[in-house]
Amino acid sequence: MTRALLACGLLVAGACASPRTPDIYPAGSFDAADDRLVLHDRYKSIVEPPGFRRAVEQGTRTRTGRPGSAYWQQYARYQLSASIDTASKLLTGSGRIRYHNRSPDALRRLAVHLYQNLYAPDAQRNRPVPITGGVTLTRVTLQGTNLGSIASTDTTKAGFRTDGTIAWIHLGRSLASGDSVDLDVAWSFMVPSLTSSPRMGQDGEVFHLAYWYPQFAVYDDVSGWQVDQYMGTAEFYMGYADYDVSLRVPAGWLVVATGELANPAQVLSPTARGRLDRLSAGRGAVDSGIVHIVTADERGPGRATAAGGADRMLTWRFTADQVRDFAWTTSSRYVWDAARVSVGDADGDGAGDFPLVHALYRPDRTAWRETARYARHSIDFLSRFVFPYPYPHMTVVEGLEVGGGMEFPMTTFITGTPRDSVALYGVTLHEIAHMWFPMIVGSDEKRNMWQDEGMASFLDVEGSVEFFPGIPRATLAGTSYERAASAGTELEVTRHGDHYMRDAARTVAAYDKPMVALHALRGLLGEETFMRAYREYARRWTNRHPQPQDLFNTFNDISGRDLSWFWRTWFYETWTLDQAIVGVQRSGDRLLVTVEDRGSAPMPARLVITRTDGTTERAEIPVEYWLQGHTSGVHSVERAGTVSRIEIDPDRLFPDLDRTNQSWTP
Ligand SMILES: [Zn+2]
Repeated sequence: MTRALLACGLLVAGACASPRTPDIYPAGSFDAADDRLVLHDRYKSIVEPPGFRRAVEQGTRTRTGRPGSAYWQQYARYQLSASIDTASKLLTGSGRIRYHNRSPDALRRLAVHLYQNLYAPDAQRNRPVPITGGVTLTRVTLQGTNLGSIASTDTTKAGFRTDGTIAWIHLGRSLASGDSVDLDVAWSFMVPSLTSSPRMGQDGEVFHLAYWYPQFAVYDDVSGWQVDQYMGTAEFYMGYADYDVSLRVPAGWLVVATGELANPAQVLSPTARGRLDRLSAGRGAVDSGIVHIVTADERGPGRATAAGGADRMLTWRFTADQVRDFAWTTSSRYVWDAARVSVGDADGDGAGDFPLVHALYRPDRTAWRETARYARHSIDFLSRFVFPYPYPHMTVVEGLEVGGGMEFPMTTFITGTPRDSVALYGVTLHEIAHMWFPMIVGSDEKRNMWQDEGMASFLDVEGSVEFFPGIPRATLAGTSYERAASAGTELEVTRHGDHYMRDAARTVAAYDKPMVALHALRGLLGEETFMRAYREYARRWTNRHPQPQDLFNTFNDISGRDLSWFWRTWFYETWTLDQAIVGVQRSGDRLLVTVEDRGSAPMPARLVITRTDGTTERAEIPVEYWLQGHTSGVHSVERAGTVSRIEIDPDRLFPDLDRTNQSWTP
């Protein structure tokens, strides 16, 4: 589209040291026949689903990105016990869960996730898994009264009704706003094989126990009950709760978990305990190095752990407050490294905080010898980049076979056989970044996968660049978004995690494209504004449930700009960016640079003009110009004879799909 390039009047020069907006005139008269997509005014505001609009009307959300004054969340307290038969692979659990209805609504039924029913023969799934038979509920008691299994959806009758990975508890009455109810449950399931199960399982030596207890579904102010089935691909949406968990395993098997170990004297050997105590107390220089808590020669009952009683079993007890899940790992094969890390003042008491990082792995996984160091840097970096890590420890355990890693509050399961150190560092950092998104900033990972995966992927690149000085950013960021967008196989970011037909499309949409978009947003807003908005979003939504609109609105609020066009373009559409220099003509002492906007994604066109003496000047065709529907514009540069190069976005802030047409030299 080079028609009528210079039919309009000219132009004001853009010769300046810092970015400024030159006067850009339409190149040719713009008319409705132009093939450039023009955003209708209604699309220039943030996409607001009905549930979000209702939440704003009811005062639980706002259009500034702050939680509303009437914001509420449900709460639960879990007291759980479980034991694992390491020979038969059977997990047996029981517990009492108190559910607090803090919503303004009277509830006639409650929803509980039975994630292990993913492994039932007749489950709805979107990936292959080993069949274990799913979970067996052996007792469901409500306020001391036994509940039977019912088939009816009639909520006037008490009972529980299982629907795939969800169990509905019919109360037979209403649970009033402000009231609580006690649910007693007992259950068992066969732990699936790690070799083909996503995110958890066992291989005989290592038991990663996640999604192992009945967990209340989230009931929130935007969607009510969120009871999407667990189908194996899309992840989770979890409410905040307190946990008190007792885990019974054979002596000699180490246990690590979400939460703090409440009874170290009963389960750890005096040697291991002494090493941990000295590390916690900061004896020796802080951050001086890695301490071996249990070495390969020290494994086993009476050496790594206490010896156990007559039955050779030990019960490990962990407690955690205000976390969205509880996961644990046990193995008799692990060695255990630990380190102390300074994170600044996490609890606001004016003093520095020093959580421990732990790495547990089988000693033949030699790459893992560096993992405690990787985890320590990850916590250190992320505490500086986002805000100080608030939990008492971060524990990284080896063994996952499907997928690179999976995150849980205070712990992560990671593959034992990484490609190389950059890959192992990268997956460690990525999973630890999930402590902030979505463990602390508790978004819905199923319906808004990008809201934690995109945020974590953005942090991966930033942390790796710091840990491996000199590593090219481009090798970390990857080009999968650009490739998919060029090939036309891209699907939009705002899509339910189970609704991508191909894993590759999901990866691009949930990880890579939002990472690219956040990078572009930083370029657009500048480092200082971007970081202020980024941290403010995390702070506002700590231990809460942000919707995408809460993130968008916070960035609008903090930057003082209406970025609706940006959110629409990069999160709701598959529009692509291609800005090109299509012509440079001399007019007296000026160069007239014609820039064409060939894609459908509007972004500012940032020009860098290099002079023969090596100095550079920056100019910008603002996004508002393209949003009016123009497809090309002319920028005038003074002192034509001294220009050695003109280039669009040489800093590569924006994901332009064709960089071959972005520069000009005389
Ligand atoms: Zn992730």
